[in-house]
Amino acid sequence: MTTEFKGQTIPPMHTGGQGAVTGQRFLDRLRQNPPTLYIDGQRVADPTTHPSTRNMCQSLAGLYDLQFQEDLKETLTYEDGGKRYARSFMVPRTKDDLRLIAESHRIRANYGLGFLGRAPDYMNANVMAAGAGAEYFNGCSAAVPGDPKRDFAANMRRYYEYVQGNDLCLTHALTNPQVNRSKMASELPDPYIALGIVEETDEGVIVRGARMMATLPIADEILIFPSTVLKENADKSRYAMGFGIPTNTPGLSFQCREPIDVGRDPEDHPLSSRFDEQDAFVIFDDVLVPWERIFLLYDVELANKAYAGTDAVLHMAYQVVNLKIAKTEAFLGTAQSIVNAIGSGGFQHVQAKIAEIIIMLEIMKALEVAAREQAEPNDYGVMTPARAPLDAARNYYPANHARLPELLQLLGASGIIMMPSKADREGPLGPQIAKYLQTGNANADERLRLFRLAWDMSMSSFAGRQELYERYFFGDPVRMHSALYEVYDSSEAVARIGEFLQRK
Ligand SMILES: Cc1cc2nc3c(=O)[nH]c(=O)nc-3n(C[C@H](O)[C@H](O)[C@H](O)COP(=O)(O)OP(=O)(O)OC[C@H]3O[C@@H](n4cnc5c(N)ncnc54)[C@H](O)[C@@H]3O)c2cc1C
Repeated sequence: MTTEFKGQTIPPMHTGGQGAVTGQRFLDRLRQNPPTLYIDGQRVADPTTHPSTRNMCQSLAGLYDLQFQEDLKETLTYEDGGKRYARSFMVPRTKDDLRLIAESHRIRANYGLGFLGRAPDYMNANVMAAGAGAEYFNGCSAAVPGDPKRDFAANMRRYYEYVQGNDLCLTHALTNPQVNRSKMASELPDPYIALGIVEETDEGVIVRGARMMATLPIADEILIFPSTVLKENADKSRYAMGFGIPTNTPGLSFQCREPIDVGRDPEDHPLSSRFDEQDAFVIFDDVLVPWERIFLLYDVELANKAYAGTDAVLHMAYQVVNLKIAKTEAFLGTAQSIVNAIGSGGFQHVQAKIAEIIIMLEIMKALEVAAREQAEPNDYGVMTPARAPLDAARNYYPANHARLPELLQLLGASGIIMMPSKADREGPLGPQIAKYLQTGNANADERLRLFRLAWDMSMSSFAGRQELYERYFFGDPVRMHSALYEVYDSSEAVARIGEFLQRK
């Protein structure tokens, strides 16, 4: 049903889409329904042409196009009912399905050398697990199974079919604005600083407030998945909700951070000019969420457990492990290329530094295999990667990632700063640059491209944002360590020590 609100129309969810889409289809969609983005005080009329977002749009389009590449389409898509869908929407039933999903995550991750944190398959994994476990949402105290509005399980299932069938690109936002972390959301000067439910209408539910961070706001939809943000005592049910709406819904705005893509040539800024996925502050100025798009209301306990209860967190973490393997491989490839270029591979400490990257890579690869091999079907029949190795990976990587750019700096030294640009190489000093900045195995042009990549991985503003992203994107590391401590079963280890101490 089409819904009218604030003089605009909210279209119904069409579930019978064509399946996997091309990059062109993705761009056309963005052009027709641009997300409400604000950059430098201006509304972005068309993200596909705006100087700060057009390159990222092209990169996303390239990612969608991979699905149609002859040698990749069998891995990146799957067939169901005569249509092909992105592999990340496939509900895994066997360990072999998980292996195929991992392969597709890896191919897609390699496209951005692992530097695209929120490529669409991340949220696809979220929606897939929630759709397969949709029954979870009818456990909500406000759900009415069979009701056209409040059958939250049916709504969740349909939302999955809608996102899968149209191959939509999603962003998401979990955390409340950083106003005062010592207070509960309901104790802040305005109870609607944190996103909260205002009222119900015949058409849906009005929500008001803000969420702190949504990476990749250049998306078709935003998913507000219920999450563990409700460690409160008073009046918290208004903050418990789950829904998904288009990024151009009336009243919804995305305030983007300062762009990192400053329009430089990809030869000079190889990552920043392609993969500035953007991060935005999300404002809900009395937004109507149509009933068919609501998955949960008022139920704090169910909201707090939704990620674990549907196992969405594990499928997302599985995408992340594969992504981080690709990223670590990119660091290894770049570091070894630098060593080869400047002939430093014979020095022992240089070998040790490369070995550090190899160890990190092999730890992540081993954790991926362990998660897959120990996978088991969950309550909804979804083959679910094992939690312990994934928890280990998502605690280990944020704690160690910063060493990767540091190693590039240590291996590249002045080479990572003395990098005349493409224009310099074509300027009056071009011949001298070519002479003095060649290496044993590469001319100056090749060398400078390599070192500029290393700079964008380790020193540029793009690299700085990556460092913060790696520290926090899956949550606060302090609280993630606590969560691991809480859930990990150490009883056998404790018992063994007890037995040993009893030994005569
Ligand atoms: C680049 C980037 C991209 C991101 N993208 C997304 C996204 O796409 N979607 C999304 O939902 N989120 C995203 N996030 C947000 C991420 O989930 C949060 O950064 C993370 O959960 C931490 O929350 P916070 O930033 O509000 O920090 P805060 O919770 O404000 O923490 C700040 C500091 O206070 C400490 N602290 C605060 N409260 C406590 C507490 N109760 N106990 C112990 N210590 C505490 C923290 O340890 C930390 O040192 C992104 C973050 C970054 C940096």
